[in-house]
Amino acid sequence: MSFRPPKGTDDIGAPASTRWRDVLRQWDTWADRFGYPLVMTPIFESTDLFERGVGEDTEVVTKQMYTFTDRGGRSLTLRPEGTAGVVRAFLDSGARGPWKGAYSGPMFRHERPQAGRRRQFWQLGVEYLDVDGPAADAEVIELGYRFLSAVDVPGLEVVINSLGDTVCRPGYVSTLRSYLEAKRDVLCDDSVSIIDVNPLRVLDCTVCAPVLTDAPAMKDHLCQPCAAHYGLVKKSLENLRIPFREDARLVRGLDYYTRTAFEYIATQLDAAQNAVGGGGRYDGLAESIGGRRAPGVGFALGVDRIVLASGEDVGPQVDVYLVSETGPEDALIAASVLRLAGLRVDFDSEGRKVEAQFKTAGRLGARAVVVQKGQGDEVDVRIDEEREQMALEAVPAWLGTRL
Ligand code: AMP
Repeated sequence: MSFRPPKGTDDIGAPASTRWRDVLRQWDTWADRFGYPLVMTPIFESTDLFERGVGEDTEVVTKQMYTFTDRGGRSLTLRPEGTAGVVRAFLDSGARGPWKGAYSGPMFRHERPQAGRRRQFWQLGVEYLDVDGPAADAEVIELGYRFLSAVDVPGLEVVINSLGDTVCRPGYVSTLRSYLEAKRDVLCDDSVSIIDVNPLRVLDCTVCAPVLTDAPAMKDHLCQPCAAHYGLVKKSLENLRIPFREDARLVRGLDYYTRTAFEYIATQLDAAQNAVGGGGRYDGLAESIGGRRAPGVGFALGVDRIVLASGEDVGPQVDVYLVSETGPEDALIAASVLRLAGLRVDFDSEGRKVEAQFKTAGRLGARAVVVQKGQGDEVDVRIDEEREQMALEAVPAWLGTRL
């Protein structure tokens, strides 16, 4: 067979997928705990939703979208991110007042592929809409932080900034543009090409970083309401004991952010892909896609990078491996009893030799092995150094305290 997954995409199976499943499960738990119901939107949307929502001058829109014309002549795009679609769905539903939604699914961007930078990748995210206050921003940042801590992202760091709003940002952007014009000669070609259209993004350029150390910072140009908002977000994070670092150069790649912007960094990954997630406030997004004013805040986390950051240790694929000396028909029944009691169980349906079954138990990392010896109900249970004989029905309770 000569087919391979398309460039920049992956087949993900065990053992790596065991970690994926764990991350996705924990995501459901944490999103639920913070009051975010699931929201599911189409994987493709009208191309202009992303052009207007993400921003026509952004790299995502100009270079990375998978756009196609369907049989009805409509221009559609595989979603490169989740926020525009969720905000569209919210506006479309006619809902009003504080509204929460959590999503999880694949996104598509035509990137130059490398580790942690894929053309199809998986994002987890939340959107909190029709909310103005800084407590909403802090709650959203907290959810991401608690979840990433729970899935053991090592060296986790929260970085925040304020990008101002339509009152104070234009003045700052023109100050920044003049500063960058004066530095034209020492900036990389990519940066020079965006001084006019998107000067904020120049701050993001790792190549130019060394010559931009004295660049004007948005936080020194905030209007009073933006400064007050930013101050309260930081105060809340301190109250929640969430460690954070301020970075005046954090601008985020998508155009729609206003005021709070933040990223979660896994400091142990390479700098090029160490952002495991990011987000911010986007008070103007709903209007830019043709809706009413609906201020909001949200984030997106990249599962590919979370899995990459958290290393090889994926944990066992099953709790119990059932080794049968009497054949697969008996093992099937015994496995069923243990599964109905809530254990994760596997067995060999092919009736292979006992040694081969033990080998499989080891490969799957089974915490316990249950050996079925005769036709009766008695089994031999082995976990670590312990070994006990007992009735099959007693196994779940006995293992319950040991697994
Ligand atoms: P963004 O939507 O660009 O703000 O990205 C949010 C998060 O999604 C990033 O911090 C990454 O973890 C993840 N992400 C974005 N683009 C990619 C990609 N091409 N491949 C893998 N993960 C990505």
